[in-house]
Amino acid sequence: MNLQEKIEDGQRINYEEALSLYEMDFFELGKLADTLRQKKHGKKTYFNINRHINPTNICADTCKFCAYAANRKNPNPYTMSHDEIMEIVKNVDANGAKEVHIVSAHNPDTGIDWYLDIFKRIKHEYPEMHIKALTAAEVDFLARYYNKSYDEIIDLMIENGVDSMPGGGAEIFDEKVRDYICKGKVTSDQWMEIHQKWHERGKKI
Ligand code: SF4
Repeated sequence: MNLQEKIEDGQRINYEEALSLYEMDFFELGKLADTLRQKKHGKKTYFNINRHINPTNICADTCKFCAYAANRKNPNPYTMSHDEIMEIVKNVDANGAKEVHIVSAHNPDTGIDWYLDIFKRIKHEYPEMHIKALTAAEVDFLARYYNKSYDEIIDLMIENGVDSMPGGGAEIFDEKVRDYICKGKVTSDQWMEIHQKWHERGKKI
């Protein structure tokens, strides 16, 4: 039995055989992994075809590890128009995506409706498209900036079509480290509180 047959058969492979997988064609390896996955777990595990959309990189925060937000090191600020976002959604829908994952920097210039209107528009034009959007860090930012409670922001998200919440913004839950790497952003307790409120509404991440 060669290595491929052994894997397809669900047999354990030894150390040398595991190392030889590095030499295998990447797509062949993927197919093999998928064959094994289906054999062992059927439909219990699956891949989700989704598209990440990051509508703006202008940020009121300054996390030390961030390579995304526009600043002196990354002087390329942008904010997408809703039409640009819809063009992406149209393309990914045509290519079989089932979910859009929309997360951004904390842009103080857009207004809260800029976020909500795009969710509403996507849900209206693509009712089957799952919208995963707004991390707890963004929820906290919007609540602070627009003087709303977490409950109000979460209810607005749901009313406007958000189906699930991404786990971003958690980083590291040790407050000392957090203070050093992303001071001013949502705290660990606030992050947990926002997710708790999300789950209390029967929503998933
Ligand atoms: S909040 Fe997000 S986008 Fe803004 S600086 Fe921190 S990691 Fe970057």
